[in-house]
Order: sequence, then C-alpha cells, then structure tokens
Amino acid sequence: MIAIDLPTPDAEPAQVPVLSRYWSDDEPWLLRNYVRRNGYQGLKAALQMPPDEVIELVKASGLRGRGGAGFPVGTKWSFIPQREDHPKPHYLVVNADESEPGTCKDMPLMLATPHTLVEGVIIAAYAIRARHAFIYVRGEVASVIRRLRAAVDEAYEIGLLGTHIFGSGFDLDVVVHAGAGAYICGEETALLDSLEGRRGQPRLRPPFPASEGLYASPTVVNNVESIASVPSILRNGVDWFRSMGTEKSPGFTLYSLSGHVTRPGQYEAPLGVTLRELLDLAGGIRAGHELKFWTPGGSSTPMFTADHLDVPLDYEGVSAAGSMLGTKAVQLFDETTCVVRAVLRWTEFYKHESCGKCTPCREGTYWLVEILQRIEDGTGTEADIELLAETTGNVVGKSFCALGDGAGSPITSSLEYFRDEYLAHVRDGGCPFDPALSTVFP
Ligand code: NAD
Ligand code: SF4
Repeated sequence: MIAIDLPTPDAEPAQVPVLSRYWSDDEPWLLRNYVRRNGYQGLKAALQMPPDEVIELVKASGLRGRGGAGFPVGTKWSFIPQREDHPKPHYLVVNADESEPGTCKDMPLMLATPHTLVEGVIIAAYAIRARHAFIYVRGEVASVIRRLRAAVDEAYEIGLLGTHIFGSGFDLDVVVHAGAGAYICGEETALLDSLEGRRGQPRLRPPFPASEGLYASPTVVNNVESIASVPSILRNGVDWFRSMGTEKSPGFTLYSLSGHVTRPGQYEAPLGVTLRELLDLAGGIRAGHELKFWTPGGSSTPMFTADHLDVPLDYEGVSAAGSMLGTKAVQLFDETTCVVRAVLRWTEFYKHESCGKCTPCREGTYWLVEILQRIEDGTGTEADIELLAETTGNVVGKSFCALGDGAGSPITSSLEYFRDEYLAHVRDGGCPFDPALSTVFP
C-alpha cells in the first residue's frame, strides 16, 4: 500500500512541453516542488501493477530509446528474465555519459528536474525486478552529479528509495557514479566495464547486456531521457503518449539546437517536427545569414543541407532521407563555415576518443585527420580526396563498435554534398573561408 500522501494529480494536456515544462520554475529540482507538480504519481501507479504489466504498458506506448539508437524501451525491458527466482541479480544502469558532439539534453534535464529521472529509475527497476540501479554520469559535470546525489538523498530520506518503497515491499538502492571523461564510456558495454572498475572498452555483442551485462548479470542500460519519459506515461497512459509524435515514433523529445541559430537551446517537440518548424521557434539562422549544413543527431549522423528543412525529425523520416535521428543534437552552420574545417574538427575528436581496441578505428582515424589537415592547409591534392573516401571506407563497417562508423559519417556525407568545396581547397591551395567570420570552428 502507498504510505506517502501525494496530492491529487492534475489532468495533463497531450502537448509539449512535458519533460521541460517546469525547467524555468523556482527550484524545480527540489522534491517538495516536484511532488507538487504530479511528481511520483507515475511511481504510485506503477507499484499498484504487477511488474510485467508495467513492461507491457511501456511496450504499448511505443517509447523508443532517446540515447541515439531508438531501440524500443519496453522491448528491451522484456528481454530481462521475468522470474523472481532467477539465479542472478538484475541491474538497471542509466547511461548519463552524454558526450556526442552537439548533444546537451540529458545534462539540463538532470540539473533542472533530477527527480524525473529518479522516479523513472524506480519504475524501471521495479518493472525489471532490479534491486540495484546505477546512474553513470560524465565525470566533468560536477554540478549535475551534486544535484543528482542531492535528489537521491532526498528520495532516501522519505522512503522513496531503500527498503519497502512506498510501503510496497519493493527495495531499491541507487548509486550515482561519476565517469572519468572518456567518450567511449557512453558505449553501453564500455560503460559496464568502467562501472566494474576496468578500463572502459567495448565488449563483443552478443551477448547483449540484457542477458549478460553488469557483473555478467541481466542488465538494462537506458539513456536518461528514455527513463525520464516513463513517469509521464504511467501517469497519463498509452493513448496520451501516442497522441503525440508519429505512429512508429510516438511521443515527445528534446531537440538541442546549437551553432548559427538565433536562440540556441533545448526545444521539446513531438517526434516528426521538421527543422523548419524548430527554426521558427528558435528565431531562425543568425541574422543576415543562411543555412548551409546541419546534423540531425550529433556529429556521428550524416549531415544534411538546406534541402532537408522539411524532413520529419523522427526515426523513420531521418533514415529515409539518408541519415539518423541519433541524439537529436541539431548543430547548424551557415554559409561562413568551411565544411572541411568542421569535418576535420569532428574527426580530430574521434581520433582523440578512439579507445584503441581495434585497428581500423585506431589507425584509420589517425590517417583521416592527416589527410583532412592536408586538404584544409592547402597542401593536399585531388588524389587525397579519393584517399580520404577510400580510408573512410576502411573504417566504416569494419570497426568493432559504433564509434568507427560515427567517425566516417561526417566525411562521407560532406563528400556527397560538398565535393566541390574539397576540390576548391586543393585547386586554390588552401581554405577559401575566413574562420573569424564563422565563429563556430575558428
Ligand atoms: P544498437 O542499435 O546496437 O543498440 C541499441 C540498444 O538496443 C542497446 O542497448 C542494445 O543492447 C540493445 N539491443 C540491440 N539489439 C539487441 C538484441 N538483439 N537483444 C538485446 N538487446 C539488443 O546501438 P548502440 O551501439 O548501443 O548505440 C549507438 C547509438 O548511440 C548511435 O545511434 C548514436 O547516435 C548514439 N550515441 C549517443 C551518444 C550520446 O552522447 N548520447 C554518444 C555516442 C553515440
Ligand atoms: Fe575502440 Fe574505435 Fe574500435 Fe570502438 S571502433 S572498439 S572506439 S578502437
């Protein structure tokens, strides 16, 4: 039975914002303010159902993973053995190691309303019968870690965590773990290695974490935004969630707009919104300039151009147009930006963050930077453009994990849309752009 007295929930409209609705309120991170705004009502509803029913509800909602891959959340939960007497413990791990270039949605979410995540963690752990949950956060974001730990402490103080939660007989402990700043530790199996105290490097999959994850036990690894979306579904139901977004990509999500946009920031919208509509909300491209290229979901996703303004930004729409929705990190660049310079910067990042486990990525990203640098400096030749494409082909699809494929995306897509710009660099002996005008990649 529920022991804590919660206020009667308000009826919630089926419209955005949901996740970011209270971000501008006074101290939205405090438990008392969260509870006043329907907080922990989703957990209350979940604890009155058997765990399998919670999984079925999340499955029926069609919620898809918001960390980049879009795997259905309820389906992932259903892979965990459903028997109480399973010989190994089950774990829930929240991937809060947000590091994809341009991606900056999970950090503000945890900073503003950490209890949305804590509530989602308790619901997810209950559903998969886990007694321990870990939130693995990027080590560099000390303010987020402090805020999250304070929220977890508040939850323990009033019995939302610990033993016999809400008087239900369900026990859960949550650990907030700080990573050490390696991009690869956002890859789910490298994250698990790091959590176990080893050097973070990807493991071979299968087995997927659902069957052999943390300490070789069944483990669900979910992104912050995915878990934080769950309480609203429990509060309002499947039809409410499905009334937003599209049939195959239902619900709402956070799009992070950055770069040459008038008002950069987080824009919550139903899945399927277009960049044209998002730009209307964000004041358009900076005054006096026009859109040249953009990433729909971080630098690992193939870039788009001004011709893609009306692509529906959902999983299917973006794939049909030749890219991936990824983390919905929409980085925008106007006509002052040199595409070769931008791609060089991203490739330097992948070279730096390559974990070194496999040769195509470890060696390939090194050579890709060398070639791009020659082209950007004006010492490259037309043969270098072919070499760049060939070397990218030796990394993509031949690397051990998604980092190698991601590293190739900006190169392949920029060659598709802006080959003339590469040619101009080699024919004119250097970069035709003034980096001071761009301000994004000076
Ligand atoms: P993936 O498609 O291989 O897997 C997605 C999820 O589904 C994983 O949790 C995986 O365990 C699970 N899964 C897939 N098939 C399964 C099966 N048969 N059985 C059980 N579980 C299964 O994608 P990925 O390699 O985990 O992630 C790649 C994505 O990460 C990219 O799309 C990229 O956008 C994103 N990314 C995000 C960030 C960030 O900062 N958030 C950083 C880098 C990359
Ligand atoms: Fe490591 Fe790169 Fe290979 Fe992934 S692709 S295992 S990051 S070297």
